[in-house]
Amino acid sequence: MADIIQLLPDHVANQIAAGEVVQRPASVVKELLENAIDAGSLTIKLIIKDAGKTLVQVIDDGKGMSVTDARLSFERHATSKIRNADDLFLLNTKGFRGEALASIAAIAHVELKTKQEDDEVGASIVIEGSNITSQDVVVTPKGTSLSVKNLFFNIPARRNFLKSDTVELRHIIDEFYRVALAHPNIAFTMYNNGSESFNLPISNYRQRIVNIFGNKTNEKLVPVDEDTEVLKISGFVGKPEYAKKTRGEQYFFVNNRFIKSAYLNHAIASAFDGLLKSGTHASYFLNLTVNPQTIDINIHPTKTEIKFDDEHTLYALLRSAVKHSLGQFNIAPVLDFERDANLDTPYSYSNSETKPSTPSVTVDRSYNPFKEETSFKSTPQPQKTSYKKESTEHWESLYVGVESKSNVTQQDFSEVQFESEQATASIFSDDNQIEQVHTTYQLHNKYIVSTIKSGMLVMDQHRAHQRVLYEDFLKNITVKESVSQQLLFPLELHFTTQEVVIIKELKDDLESTGFIFSNFSTESLEITGVPVSVPESEVSIILEQLISDVENEVPDSHFSATDLLAKSMAKSLAIKTGQSLEKNEQEHLVNKLFACKEPNVSPTNKTTFITMSVDELDKKFI
Ligand code: ADP
Ligand code: MG
Repeated sequence: MADIIQLLPDHVANQIAAGEVVQRPASVVKELLENAIDAGSLTIKLIIKDAGKTLVQVIDDGKGMSVTDARLSFERHATSKIRNADDLFLLNTKGFRGEALASIAAIAHVELKTKQEDDEVGASIVIEGSNITSQDVVVTPKGTSLSVKNLFFNIPARRNFLKSDTVELRHIIDEFYRVALAHPNIAFTMYNNGSESFNLPISNYRQRIVNIFGNKTNEKLVPVDEDTEVLKISGFVGKPEYAKKTRGEQYFFVNNRFIKSAYLNHAIASAFDGLLKSGTHASYFLNLTVNPQTIDINIHPTKTEIKFDDEHTLYALLRSAVKHSLGQFNIAPVLDFERDANLDTPYSYSNSETKPSTPSVTVDRSYNPFKEETSFKSTPQPQKTSYKKESTEHWESLYVGVESKSNVTQQDFSEVQFESEQATASIFSDDNQIEQVHTTYQLHNKYIVSTIKSGMLVMDQHRAHQRVLYEDFLKNITVKESVSQQLLFPLELHFTTQEVVIIKELKDDLESTGFIFSNFSTESLEITGVPVSVPESEVSIILEQLISDVENEVPDSHFSATDLLAKSMAKSLAIKTGQSLEKNEQEHLVNKLFACKEPNVSPTNKTTFITMSVDELDKKFI
């Protein structure tokens, strides 16, 4: 048989490599910014159009390239940064693979202009899908300008795969943050669709963090500084009381390179042990300087993962450095037996340590999840008998409905209710009066137990209420007829620029639920009205949770954004496990759940209730 193996042509090999290096516009941003840094630039400008789908341009004032190098830079494995394999272990540049420009040029329209300081003129090259379409001598300032237009123009599948502009822009801003945080000694500006989004002058590290995340950040930072033989740690951690529900502000750099490491993240988290409210994450901005010979950056094409020779030592050092700082700044609990430990740490963890035997749940008694149902409480109670009857009707209906139909609609329920009225009457007309009075019972402040015709029902109060609220919010958003509650004083909330972008994106839907926004600035927003079901004190938590959910789920269509908003708000506002409920609240919840379109599961598809028949119970008593 004939030989069948062939070498792939360069442009095909480059396209394949591009698949690894360039996943989305943000990958281009990362590669170009890194090249500009490696070129020794002091000022770097990033220009974005349409979330990078139309244009990503980076202009630097670095050392530039000669005419020959300019041409060579687009060849695969063309790099000025390493010469032999040994250099891999002495890296102090970002790039070294020599793949980025070749890959990008294979899948976009690229224009390069570059000039070295001592040269009279510079070079200009235009490449489209690996083909050079023009090559010229030009007058251009010292440094390099590289524009990448129409990304994935020749790979429609990849282009279609890109997410909405908001999502892609967020990825770009993420990369920009990572690079800008690692290099406070370089000035960065970023323009998005013609307007300036960031202007970060050369500054110290604290100032750079504040310039990115807003003035409020300054007071939240605790410095970390530790210099050992193995490594140097410097940077900041966020004070525990400012911990966020999002993992967003966690930056870890090794030799000025942003790195993801679950292991070292754990080291930092464990230094915060006992200081954080559950479900929150501390912010950190930490730089590790290690001998380049003790790490291997080569294991991941986008270079965000590295291998350390001695991870265990790093873990221990990092953990104790952070602990030390928290202690020095009087943030960690101080072991002082003269004083009440609770005074030192206002955190729940320290409380539970001093009183381990009584886990207590604090409940906001002023917060009534049924507030919107004012008629329920303010109208006189219906006559005892008819009231009970009404509620029993509902459990009967729920049981019959759930048992007999899997996809029950509202319509079905009303039929079922009618049907069950007689059944109810017959069941409760016998001598078992007690059953009629104690219709629901709360178990461990978590479950609501109730009797039904065939046996019993156990409902998870948190999940059930989530379902009820979720359907309410969805309805409000679609029908747009929710009611707002005007705030006495406008509420000003501070976020990062990126977080404000997320809220802005959801503004219309949020307004449909009853929020009224009066002002958006880059780092804050003002709210003058909230949905009637939302207590003012919960607003910032709800929005934070929402931002966190959007960041984790990255909704890519309007529908899923609406759905996510409803889910997120339901999650924030639903009655929590541990909350004790009045009898009428318990009953009301049962009835509300079974008036839902899909009572069986929570918005995140978890079981809301289970039933057990008398037969099944009987079997357990054999
Ligand atoms: P790598 O960065 O891994 O070396 P790239 O494909 O990103 O590979 O770049 C190839 C080469 O082009 C670099 O090694 C560098 O010599 C040159 N180069 C790229 N961008 C710039 C720039 N902004 N300024 C100066 N030289 C650059
Ligand atoms: Mg590079």
